[in-house]
Amino acid sequence: MFDKVLIANRGEIALRIQRACRELGIKTVAVHSEADRETKYVKLADESVCIGPAPSAQSYLNIPAVISAAEVTDAEAIHPGYGFLSENADFAERVEQSGFTFIGPRAETIRLMGDKVSAKDTMKAAGVPCVPGSDGALSDDADENLRIAKEVGYPVIIKAAGGGGGRGMRVVHTEAALLNAISMTKTEAHGAFGNAMVYMEKFLEQPRHIEIQVLADQHGNAIYLGERDCSMQRRHQKVLEEAPAFGISDKLREKIGTACAEACKRINYRGAGTFEFLYENGEFYFIEMNTRVQVEHPVTEMITGIDIVKQQILIAAGEKLHISQKNVKLSGHSIECRINAEDPFNFVPSPGRLTTFHMPGGPGIRVDTHAYQGYLVPPNYDSMIGKLIAYGDTREQAIARMQIALSEMVIEGIKTNVALHKELMADTAFRQGGTSIHYLEHKLGIATK
Ligand code: ADP
Repeated sequence: MFDKVLIANRGEIALRIQRACRELGIKTVAVHSEADRETKYVKLADESVCIGPAPSAQSYLNIPAVISAAEVTDAEAIHPGYGFLSENADFAERVEQSGFTFIGPRAETIRLMGDKVSAKDTMKAAGVPCVPGSDGALSDDADENLRIAKEVGYPVIIKAAGGGGGRGMRVVHTEAALLNAISMTKTEAHGAFGNAMVYMEKFLEQPRHIEIQVLADQHGNAIYLGERDCSMQRRHQKVLEEAPAFGISDKLREKIGTACAEACKRINYRGAGTFEFLYENGEFYFIEMNTRVQVEHPVTEMITGIDIVKQQILIAAGEKLHISQKNVKLSGHSIECRINAEDPFNFVPSPGRLTTFHMPGGPGIRVDTHAYQGYLVPPNYDSMIGKLIAYGDTREQAIARMQIALSEMVIEGIKTNVALHKELMADTAFRQGGTSIHYLEHKLGIATK
């Protein structure tokens, strides 16, 4: 096992990784920007290194600074968390070339999955169901592109191979708009991602976002830990997540989960990962794979009892998975609300000092946050300041506990989205379950008019 791990991230996930390390008896190194110097989790780490000024480009995204921090502290492995450098194949490569272990998949796997065209090709070949569409990237042949769209059927969506974070996509409803949409998406993709390659998919009208969590070790073993429903989104940003997904039968879960675990074996996957799907009319359609831990991993931990971050570290250290598929038992229901420093209805970020910060508790409640009373939420980063996670024997109980927890929570000094979560917990369609990825925007559109 590692003696010391460097955590190349900030905020709640930096603290989450630190806790997993502590449980495993591993010393931790926190790297931080000047804006995060005074945070509690930095002080709680065994060692800390300032890697640059507040802007991420000069600190959390500064590869040489992160690697030198590992060198000066004699860390053996680097955990990238999510966001920042976590899906940067060059970073993973540099980490390993510098003699450290990257806690995540191999650089070539990250590269393969980072390009959506190669990711989709790989998954198709591995037997994972994908959204119908073009066979790989689109060429410049206008007639051919018109033919593909006709065959797929309108509406279609043109997506950039290098796209991410919901950017680089355009929906096309009619044949007349197709060619112009392709050329515009290509131009934008070239500018934004340095890669003009685009592909075409059938645009699904009312899908849900359902994803499968996997773990794979370096000895050819791979398992799935059930699914999460992350359909409650605004501008492709997840707002709340739950596990299991409403209405997914054991049989369907086993079918899609097995396909994902088999795909991991086939691509020699290493570590924790997530297969993201759109789900419509009882069918799963692969859209992308995330090769890192996700914000919403706690809901899976709550219903499986498996610590995903600890598993990432054990796998990176070369251990065999000690959990077999038949030992993965899903029990109860869990919901996570992302607590953001932002206006609850127009989503404008609201950084500043937390003058009051009271977190809820009680049965089935977990709070993952690095924040505390007096903490200054810096304006430089993502607005998420914590995650409120509720567990219950049933979905109804998880919702009831979440409602109590939200009512106990007091955060003053900044605006938060707690009011939105309260509204969602009381929302008839949410309570019924199975809302599509468009539900929240639709509701907000109506609510704000
Ligand atoms: P990103 O990497 O930018 O998150 P994804 O491929 O995961 O891109 O897609 C992001 C979101 O875009 C999905 O969650 C979904 O809301 C929408 N989307 C993507 N592909 C389709 C599709 N074929 N049909 C309908 N919506 C889609």
